[in-house]
Amino acid sequence: MPDFSDRLIACMAQANRVTAFTGAGISAESGVPTFRGTDGLWSKFRPEELANMDAFMRNPQLVWEWYAHRKRVIADVQPNPGHIALVRMEEFFTHFGVITQNIDNLHRRAGSRTVYELHGNIERNYCMECGKPATNEEVLRQGGVPRCGSCGGVVRPDVVWFGEMLPEDEWDHAVRAAESSDVFLSIGTSAVVYPAASLPLLAKDHGAYLVEVNPEPTPLTDRADEFLQGPAGVILPALMHALEETRAADGAAHPPGD
Ligand SMILES: [Zn+2]
Repeated sequence: MPDFSDRLIACMAQANRVTAFTGAGISAESGVPTFRGTDGLWSKFRPEELANMDAFMRNPQLVWEWYAHRKRVIADVQPNPGHIALVRMEEFFTHFGVITQNIDNLHRRAGSRTVYELHGNIERNYCMECGKPATNEEVLRQGGVPRCGSCGGVVRPDVVWFGEMLPEDEWDHAVRAAESSDVFLSIGTSAVVYPAASLPLLAKDHGAYLVEVNPEPTPLTDRADEFLQGPAGVILPALMHALEETRAADGAAHPPGD
């Protein structure tokens, strides 16, 4: 069991607003591949070559085959103990939210309710003409380049492609959550892809206690108040356990009516 500083436990035990910011590392622990290099049939493409609007306009069939493959792979992976610990945190703290750069929907599948998805969600799709949503079941059943059931327009995955803006409302929520956090957890993210990477330091500048959880140090590590080295699936359940023990001990020390 990892050791946590008294300062971290005290800080989190008193925290009213806590935000978790997650990246590819927590997904990798569930076995979500990076779709870079080693993925058989698709290894000759880099994600940058397929996940952009130019590629989609040029060859929508190819880009859709790649997404159909990714959707099937991701549907088969499961949330890990790190995701589950964040669900418990949502129950533990008065205000808690997850900001994620991941598109795999694992936070929601684990049971997290307040989730800001900065890069979209691979379980969703929408019509490029009229905006009508389409489910994965519909698009995978159609195969090829799926068409909108209402207007016949081309349907695309609801993910943010290279060169596209982040969804404005999700970004605004994420910024507000960062600015109002008492504790901000940066988990499994290399903290280099802007603008998302600015959120941990934005939180710190607004007074949050900044905690990084990662197997290896990152450019953020020197700026964090605490660096908890290890996989999210080990660190976060242990941290939750320590917080629950602290709360139970405080409750015992101050029984109702004391
Ligand atoms: Zn449509």
